[in-house]
Amino acid sequence: MDGNRIRKIVIVGGGTAGWMTAAAFAKILGPRYADITLVESEEIGIVGVGEATIPQINIYNRMLGLDEDDFVRETQGSFKLGIEFVDWGKKNHTYFHPFGPFGVDMDGVSFHAYWLRMMHGGDPRLVTDYSLTSVAASQNRFMRPVNAGNSPLSRIAYAFHFDASLYARFLRRYSQARGVKRQEGKITKVHQRSEDGFIESVELESGQKIEGELFIDCSGFRGLLIEQTLKAGYEDWTHWLPCDRAVAVPCAHGDGEFTPYTRSTAREAGWQWRIPLQHRIGNGYVYSSQFISDDEAAAKLMANLDGEALADPRPLRFVTGRRKKAWVKNVVALGLASGFLEPLESTSIHLIQSGIARLLTLFPSRDFEPADIERYNFMIAREFAQVRDFIILHYHLTERDDTPLWEYCRSMDVPETLKEKYRIFESHGRIFRDNDELFNDTSWFAVMIGQGLVPRSYDPVVEAMDEATLRARMNELHSVIGNCADQMPGHADFIAMNCAAK
Ligand code: FAD
Repeated sequence: MDGNRIRKIVIVGGGTAGWMTAAAFAKILGPRYADITLVESEEIGIVGVGEATIPQINIYNRMLGLDEDDFVRETQGSFKLGIEFVDWGKKNHTYFHPFGPFGVDMDGVSFHAYWLRMMHGGDPRLVTDYSLTSVAASQNRFMRPVNAGNSPLSRIAYAFHFDASLYARFLRRYSQARGVKRQEGKITKVHQRSEDGFIESVELESGQKIEGELFIDCSGFRGLLIEQTLKAGYEDWTHWLPCDRAVAVPCAHGDGEFTPYTRSTAREAGWQWRIPLQHRIGNGYVYSSQFISDDEAAAKLMANLDGEALADPRPLRFVTGRRKKAWVKNVVALGLASGFLEPLESTSIHLIQSGIARLLTLFPSRDFEPADIERYNFMIAREFAQVRDFIILHYHLTERDDTPLWEYCRSMDVPETLKEKYRIFESHGRIFRDNDELFNDTSWFAVMIGQGLVPRSYDPVVEAMDEATLRARMNELHSVIGNCADQMPGHADFIAMNCAAK
């Protein structure tokens, strides 16, 4: 086996995907296992957006052994307890998709089933009133979970907002300290083996060749190896997710709050993100070019900032979908090179992380077993499709018909996999999580209810609890959550105490 081991790995691209891969390989494989070189071009630069994450990033951070305060400090980061959706289900309506659970399961039944019973009985409380992260977010509070037994304070789930360029730099320092070699330069040629088309080397403008046995394509939208060289093909999902452009601009902190959550506000032809960092707020308008011009989109964005713009608005174009095969021959694509799903639920960085984890599970020898490659491609395709359905849900499940985009989205046909989720939910509010799908029942429930889909009834099993007992337990839980939120410091105070940038 030793002779067959991969000894030269080349990572093409030094954006979030490239440096996340380099850091993970440096930690798990290390320079004694293989020589790891990352090639990046300052002239081309990185996409530089992608600043909101989901709680799974904590698994990646723990794997690297990061000091979380350092990480937040060095990336001008902030904390994230969920996403606030404004004007999505209908205008002048807001809901919250929190991280972490609603309430607690009682007698082995999901909490949301009990909540539905209460709601059908006329109780006005929202399901998010039983989520500590949601209540804390509404008061701009944050703290990490503590060891407090059964208290909701033990189960605070959170993620981060960070500056994408600082994040790449942070991971670069980490990787280089662990033996990753960085090569600056623009790749202008790719050389393939004549017998089987495997990539042999990439050549820089300077003429320098970098040879490898395994290539990780993190070259961004262009897919330098996976598409331009190996022609993997692309599955286009624009008919379900018609947004194909974005315009992004940072602004200064103004009068708005330093929220421990991302805000997503539906607009006439798409939606606007607001991501608060320590030194600035990241903003962008994701839109469909069928329904609004670039100039109008930029003007709308600039008119809806908290504070003074800190740069000119930057346009971005994309095609929503995925590479038909993320792994072809000796090339594995990660990040934007593998596909694109709009950042409505901040999933792209997670998809990089999960691609790295799956690749490490199926790490090849120089034999590149076709069955392993097929398995990898199957798992990546399934995960992309599951996330896609969750994002479509936000567009499709709306009462809005006030602009052509919303009219199109509410009446479009959706994938059969999503239709099945609707069918099961509509009767008794049940949700099933297939094959470890990324979003769990709390997420689906939060968005389905938040967007106005109320099941006709509730799980009959919850009637095993008598109504007085249920009411008492719900009241108690509600007050416990309120008390826990009261104990949490403000988000800004927490950062000032622990991880303020210098
Ligand atoms: P890039 O950052 O584009 O990096 C590509 C690298 O390849 C660069 O280093 C470049 O120099 C190099 N390269 C390319 N060609 C060559 C060449 N010929 N020679 C040498 N080097 C080359 N994700 C989230 O999880 N959360 C979000 O909130 C979020 N928001 C987003 C908003 C928008 C509008 C967009 C478009 C994306 C967003 N994403 C988000 C996705 C996220 O930005 C990306 O997943 C992430 O930044 C990874 O990018 P990347 O590393 O694949 O590509």
